Amino acid sequence: FQINMGQLQLDEELGKGNYGTVKKVLHRPTNVHMAMKEIQLELSPAKLDGIIMELDILHRAVSPEIVEFYGAFTIESCVYYCMEYMDAGSLDKVLGIKTTAQGGGWEGELGEGAPEDVLGRIAANMVRGLKFLKDNLQIMHRDVKPTNVLVNRKGQIKLCDFGVSGQLDNSIAKTNIGCQTYFAPERIQGTTTGTDVQEAFNTYTVSSDVWSLGLSIIEIAMGRYPYPPETYSNVFAQLQAIVHGEPPELPEVKGTTDADPLEVHFSEEARDWVRCCLIKDPTRRATYAELLQHPFLIADSQREVNMVAWVAGALGRRQLQAQIRAQLVANEPVSV
Ligand code: ATP
Ligand code: MG
Repeated sequence: FQINMGQLQLDEELGKGNYGTVKKVLHRPTNVHMAMKEIQLELSPAKLDGIIMELDILHRAVSPEIVEFYGAFTIESCVYYCMEYMDAGSLDKVLGIKTTAQGGGWEGELGEGAPEDVLGRIAANMVRGLKFLKDNLQIMHRDVKPTNVLVNRKGQIKLCDFGVSGQLDNSIAKTNIGCQTYFAPERIQGTTTGTDVQEAFNTYTVSSDVWSLGLSIIEIAMGRYPYPPETYSNVFAQLQAIVHGEPPELPEVKGTTDADPLEVHFSEEARDWVRCCLIKDPTRRATYAELLQHPFLIADSQREVNMVAWVAGALGRRQLQAQIRAQLVANEPVSV
């Protein structure tokens, strides 16, 4: 069936990205809650129709690790895109990580980081989702990062926002690039001397997604973007660190967190898995098959992980944080 705006009851805003707004909606004919993304584009009706046609292949992207696509339509110069509503939101929100796009990114605003068993489950789901896109749809994701990994209260982890439409990708102005980039070194070139960041982004292959995956896994483990905070507000410093610096690593000891006052360690298996993703030479980087066969993910497949409890716990801690913050802002004594 075809979805149109008339069938939708608009509910609350779920979030804002660099290119659009996502709202929760109710599809009245089926009584299904959906997430609707609005992307404003200055394009001719013919070009917009082309994008809607390209998005159609998303109907074939049916997999437990991929957010379901329900349909897309245009109104004037906007593309509306309806997908499965994930009731715990994106991983950055679940973990309490503030991204620069949300006005965060300052020091001190750290998220909580996932324990190793949860990390393994998230990594396994991400790899399976990426492998599915590559093997079944012959596409790469192009935008792997924690905000594009969605979670629900059933404990499911799914990918969204992959680059299915070349026309859509080309039409979106890549203006906000930089703040925290997940681009692999080979996607960045000549940026250290150039002044035009737009021009600096280059060709890349499937293995570029593997780099972004590794970087995302460190962020999910640590509750913060892996490159130093000094680079958040300096695009060139950050790109330089990615191209010329040593790749970030998953540390052996994470230290303590509010959620886990005991010292948290990461296993050598987990650390090696991340290392295999973050090899600077794209031809030597691990493939999805190798990542699935790695001891870190073999261990994941052999243990039970209570993702439902983890999601519920993390969301509870976020709610508590929000409550305390609201009381501080209102200048009331904090009581929880
Ligand atoms: P970018 O614009 O760089 O892709 P982003 O991924 O944060 O950044 P959006 O894709 O526009 O931006 O999403 C905005 C926010 O909306 C996300 O961070 C997420 O919290 C929320 N969101 C997106 N899709 C869904 C969904 N299907 N279900 C629930 N929440 C969602
Ligand atoms: Mg997104």
